[in-house]
Amino acid sequence: MSFLQLEGKKIVVFGVANRKSVAFHIAATLAEAGAELIFSIQKQEAAAVVEKFFPSSKFYLCDFSDDASMRQTVEDIAAKHGTLYGMVHSVAFANYSEGIKAFHDTLRHDFLEAMDISCYSFIRLAGLLKPHMEQDGAMIAVSISTTRMAAESYGFMAPVKAALDSSICFLAKSLSADSRIRVNAVGASLLKTSASAGIPGYIKPYLFAEKATLRKAALKTEEVANVAAFLLSPRASGINAQTLVVDAGMSTNFFDRELVDKVID
Ligand code: NAD
Repeated sequence: MSFLQLEGKKIVVFGVANRKSVAFHIAATLAEAGAELIFSIQKQEAAAVVEKFFPSSKFYLCDFSDDASMRQTVEDIAAKHGTLYGMVHSVAFANYSEGIKAFHDTLRHDFLEAMDISCYSFIRLAGLLKPHMEQDGAMIAVSISTTRMAAESYGFMAPVKAALDSSICFLAKSLSADSRIRVNAVGASLLKTSASAGIPGYIKPYLFAEKATLRKAALKTEEVANVAAFLLSPRASGINAQTLVVDAGMSTNFFDRELVDKVID
C-alpha cells in the first residue's frame, strides 16, 4: 500500500474536458496512486481524452443544468460500479459572452446560472451520491484561493466560489449525521486551463500572479492535483470542512518588493 492508501478505491471524477483540465490532472494523480476511476463528462468531445489516457475507465455523460441528467448519471454509476469511495467536482461555468461587466451590472441570469452549475451542482451531487458511498468516503470540490480579493477580471465567479466554500462546511456537517464522509475543497490560484483562457483579459492577471508568488514561478495544475489527491485520501482523515489554499504563497505577498518598486519608482 502506498502512502496515500488509495489503491482500488472507486472515485468518480466530474470535469475532464481536455488534458489541461484540473480534473484531468487530479485523475492522473489518483490513477498513479492506484485508484479506480469513473468519469462523468459534459461533452462527447472529452470522451477521446478519457479513452486515450484512462482506457480501463468508464465514462458517463452528464449535464449539470439538467437535474434528470444528474440523477440518471448517479443511478447508472451506482448500478454499474457499486459502492464508491470518493467524488471529485472540478466543474464551473460562467457566461462571459458580453465581456466582464462592472460587478453591480451582473445579469441575474448569468449569476444564477453560474451558481447553479458551479455551486448547487456540488450540493446536489453530494446528496445523490451519499447513499452509494462508503461510510469513510471523501468528496472534494475545486475552489479558488481567495474570494475576498475583488479581481475585476474574474467577474461574478468569486461570490459563487464563496458560496461553494460555505457549502463545503454545510455538507460536511449534514453528511456527518450518519456517515464519516469528509468534504473539502482545494482553493487554487491562477492556472492555465481552457476555462481560464475563456475569461476575458485573463492573461495579464495570470502573468502578474506568477510574479506575486513567493517563489516567482507560476502555480502548476499538478500541484493542485497533488493536494486534491491528499485531501481525498485516508491520510487526510483529520481534515474536514476546509478549503485548503494552494497559491504558492501569493496571498501573503501583497507588498512584494519587486512589484512595489515597479509601481512606485
Ligand atoms: P475546464 O474547462 O477544463 O473544466 C471545467 C469543466 O466544467 C469542463 O469539463 C466542463 O465540461 C465542465 N462543465 C461546465 N458546464 C457544465 C455543465 N453544465 N455540466 C457538466 N459539466 C460542466 O477548466 P478548469 O480550469 O479545469 O476548471 C475546473 C475547476 O477548477 C473549476 O471549478 C474552476 O473554477 C476551478 N479553478 C480553476 C482555476 C484556473 O485558473 N483555471 C483556478 C482555480 C480554480
